[in-house]
Amino acid sequence: MLKEILEEVGPNFAIGSIPDPSTLDSMSEKTRPLWLSSTSSIPQLLDSSQSWRGRVPLVRARNHTATAVRSESHLCVNYQGELDTVADPNVAISQLVDADPNKPVFLTGLRLPIIENLEFRVPLDVCKVAEPFYESNEQVNMTPKYSFVDLHIDYGTDGLATPIGDCRKIWLLYPPTTHNLRSMKVVDGQRLRLARLVHELEGCVVVETTSAHAIHIPAASLHATFTLQGGFLIAKDFTTSRSLTAFSELLATGLDESLLPEARAKCFEWLERCLEISLVHQKIKESVSAWLRAEEKLASWAATQRGWRVSVRRIWDQVSLPDSATICECDKQVSETSFATHFTSTHLSFLFSTCQLRHDRR
Ligand SMILES: [Zn+2]
Repeated sequence: MLKEILEEVGPNFAIGSIPDPSTLDSMSEKTRPLWLSSTSSIPQLLDSSQSWRGRVPLVRARNHTATAVRSESHLCVNYQGELDTVADPNVAISQLVDADPNKPVFLTGLRLPIIENLEFRVPLDVCKVAEPFYESNEQVNMTPKYSFVDLHIDYGTDGLATPIGDCRKIWLLYPPTTHNLRSMKVVDGQRLRLARLVHELEGCVVVETTSAHAIHIPAASLHATFTLQGGFLIAKDFTTSRSLTAFSELLATGLDESLLPEARAKCFEWLERCLEISLVHQKIKESVSAWLRAEEKLASWAATQRGWRVSVRRIWDQVSLPDSATICECDKQVSETSFATHFTSTHLSFLFSTCQLRHDRR
């Protein structure tokens, strides 16, 4: 697969020098634990026919795009992997027929009405690893051949994506280990991220997708895509009870800081949902660790977001924290205080207190 990228897009991305690349069928011994310890799952390749409640859509979507492009409010035009406010979206449509290896233009964030009716969903097979919750933010990307989406992270959510019609893509995925996220932070907001990090990132998995596949992109994983056959890709976000660790590591590294205000608010909204799911599934220990890992970031967000302070406090209030015999990781718990008392008074103090909540309800 890497050879094909080299042949089609040339040596610009230093693909040939990826250390220890794995595929899903043959994963190196070092790579598997990097994924399992840092995020919700190893990337999974699923049968895409399970992700459509209705019939699998055909490339008829192309005709609808031309009309949709004129009325889309979420649409983004990308040139060479970066947002471009000047590029004409119609160029992307014409490149579906006549691809341009030097100047691929692609569209992201399309909300095609034709797709909404087909009911795209996360396949049941994902549940073998973890049940998907809060499936939302369905969108379509239109990528002509040669489109390259540079290394990025989708806020911290898990993602599901499947190509439509003849579209074929190769994905490079990396687990959100502390090492990888720190490297990503160094090039955050800059161009040529994959080319600059390709030598140092760990745990690379290379996956090819056609319309027969739906790919599960685990929470907060870094990914880049090469389109080798142009067409459409549909994607959506969700979270799982195993995603919170990755989410908190992302925040602890400060990777939310360069997001636009609207996207940053979404990121913390997703963290709230993810925490709720994690606690509902009684992953108390994991949730507490994740909370402590990102505590500073959460406190500074809470300071300006009243609604968030209230709703996150309500989530914590619904669980019974362990009491005797549990000692907080922070080492500041004094011996006569129970864990529950310590955690609430020390690590939840920047949220609304329970008595404030009661007062608030009046
Ligand atoms: Zn503590």
